[in-house]
Amino acid sequence: MAKKRANVNKNICVACGVCRLECPREAIKIHQGCYALVNEEICVGCGLCQKACPANAIEIKERI
Ligand code: SF4
Ligand code: SF4
Repeated sequence: MAKKRANVNKNICVACGVCRLECPREAIKIHQGCYALVNEEICVGCGLCQKACPANAIEIKERI
């Protein structure tokens, strides 16, 4: 069954860190101050980061 995971568009992300604070599983880090990076092993695809992102840079995608 496909699992949902957050996917950050690095070209849109402004590295504000809102998603990192919002994630209940602490699955997001800001990579070298440039963009949000999701740890797909930890992310459960809940979508809270997507709702919180002011730049609309996060999509929830299905992963196998
Ligand atoms: S979808 Fe949920 S678990 Fe995954 S990174 Fe976003 S807030 Fe965290
Ligand atoms: S909330 Fe959006 S713009 Fe801000 S760091 Fe996360 S993905 Fe990037």
